[in-house]
Amino acid sequence: MPSEFELIGRYFERSARDAVLGVGDDAALVRAGADCELAISTDMLLEGRHFLPGAEPRALGHKALAVNLSDMAAMGARPRWATLAIALPAVDESWLRGFCEGLFALAERHGVDLIGGDTTRGPLTLAVTIIGEVTRGKALLRSGARLGDDIWVSGELGGAALGLAYLQGRVKLSSEAAWAACKRLDEPEPRVELGRRLVGIAHSAIDLSDGFGADLGHILERSGLGASVRYGELPRSAAFAHLHNRNLEQHCLLSGGDDYELIFTAAPEARGALEALGGELGLRLSRVGSIEAGAATLRLLDRQGKPMTHAGGFDHFKEAS
Ligand code: ADP
Ligand code: MG
Repeated sequence: MPSEFELIGRYFERSARDAVLGVGDDAALVRAGADCELAISTDMLLEGRHFLPGAEPRALGHKALAVNLSDMAAMGARPRWATLAIALPAVDESWLRGFCEGLFALAERHGVDLIGGDTTRGPLTLAVTIIGEVTRGKALLRSGARLGDDIWVSGELGGAALGLAYLQGRVKLSSEAAWAACKRLDEPEPRVELGRRLVGIAHSAIDLSDGFGADLGHILERSGLGASVRYGELPRSAAFAHLHNRNLEQHCLLSGGDDYELIFTAAPEARGALEALGGELGLRLSRVGSIEAGAATLRLLDRQGKPMTHAGGFDHFKEAS
């Protein structure tokens, strides 16, 4: 069966008559005035696919917007407006109040207005379209990585996938670790401020929705370059240190989706500026590898510098690989 990305490429990716950037990045770009471009992106959450039945409505309201804000972060755009298409199986006003609390609290924090949408009855589905602004020609693209760039990642990886493994009964965690992992899964914090501050510093960026290997892979494909990454340098949730489960840890770090951190590349000359930026934002920024010449594949190295094998990321038509 073709993958999600093969399907998009085969059926939906075509050249746009009048867009700065069409299908294939974290958001599309269209011109709006002399100095401004609009970044536009849609992300959908479906019950049973993106969240478990019975998920808390407040967290769902947060996440439905957060995953879209994350795409604005990946473009270096300032999010401004959103629309919401929602299908509800039944009218449950206390559910709706909780959902709106989560949605509007996050919208308020990022100065985003909900300006439209659609409401219908059906299996619980949440689709948000987000529109942001970015200075003309300044957006961070997947295609911008350059030979010799450092590869950076924000925050910590693997927490959301660990939360999912816990909820599915695949791993036992202390109550504290379980709470932290589920929080990462249910209420990701989109790195909007980081994305905006990376404009003019980073050469390329993507947000982490499908897993480190897959998402870095998109940068490599679009940039036509390869990469090597030191597995030991990947920032990981503290819970993994107590788990002593290497396979699960590796799976969560490399193939686990839903972390909504940013992967970005920048010249080695930018190291000082990025370290200072991480300090200023109170956000860990880790340098994990470098962009190299060659095929658009990721060479993963162990602590001794030896190549390691790794699985791909999440694909909606192939399930977790
Ligand atoms: P992200 O994970 O950043 O939200 P996706 O992996 O969902 O991005 O999508 C990859 C690219 O394909 C994006 O540019 C997205 O806008 C585009 N895309 C996905 N599905 C469709 C579709 N049905 N029609 C047109 N473009 C699509
Ligand atoms: Mg994205």
